[in-house]
Amino acid sequence: MTLKSKTAVVTGSTSGIGLAIARALAAEGANIVINGFGKAQDIEKERAGIEADFGVRCAYSPADMTKPADIADMIAFAEQTFGSVDVLVNNAGVQFVSPIEDFPIEKWDQIIAINLTSAFHAIRAAVPGMKARGWGRIISTASAHSLVASPFKAAYVSAKHGLAGLTKTVALELATFGITVNCVSPGYVWTPLVEGQIPDTMKARGMTREQVMNDVLLAGQPTKQFVTAEEVAATMVFLCSDAAKQITGTNISVDGGWTAQ
Ligand code: NAD
Repeated sequence: MTLKSKTAVVTGSTSGIGLAIARALAAEGANIVINGFGKAQDIEKERAGIEADFGVRCAYSPADMTKPADIADMIAFAEQTFGSVDVLVNNAGVQFVSPIEDFPIEKWDQIIAINLTSAFHAIRAAVPGMKARGWGRIISTASAHSLVASPFKAAYVSAKHGLAGLTKTVALELATFGITVNCVSPGYVWTPLVEGQIPDTMKARGMTREQVMNDVLLAGQPTKQFVTAEEVAATMVFLCSDAAKQITGTNISVDGGWTAQ
């Protein structure tokens, strides 16, 4: 239990990778603030499940990652409820697939806000407390798309490259304060986000569902397997450990070899 009596805030943790991260950090003893959208009863089930399964406390923040004031409130809520924010995981993210000339302006703005700008707001709110305590772990869920591009994902690829740059910058600023800042970059993980982009990719490329799965999604993943959310979460747990205290400013790929090509 490397995180006993610490507190972790995980954005976008009502589903997919974020939920797996929240549960993995809870398994290490951290109290958890989960965040994200969904049906109230589903969120309550996940929140109560984390408390029951791991014997920690878990609270829910409905903060909308497009709203700077909500994000500041989420960090303040975590500090008031549990006394600190020791681990911040910037994980909330959305996707939209379209040729650049048709890319809706509001989709560009939304993706940049949720996938990149929300991390800036959360980090700046959490850092003063981390500095005061001399310990912190800031981890962002980036993507293989923080390192390489794919067509039709202009906003997502731009936001994820930005997240990798933000990570390096803040890591340098916080290097002497006992705070590490890293990102973890998954390849394709089987979650609702991936499932949700299949119809648009079918349309954009004129392909069947099977063709999108095999020829697009797993085409670049040499292991020919989807990454699991639990594998991404396990990498983040390692980054929270003492053994990882000299790992800062990096971008760790968990992508089945995708970006080695
Ligand atoms: P998901 O759709 O299952 O989960 C996204 C989470 O973000 C949900 O909890 C959702 O409610 C939340 N969210 C969305 N908009 C929000 C907003 N405005 N405010 C607060 N929360 C909001 O997706 P996922 O696949 O688990 O993705 C999680 C992260 O992993 C994202 O940053 C994504 O870019 C990244 N990622 C995913 C994959 C993949 O293959 N699934 C690969 C690489 C990176």
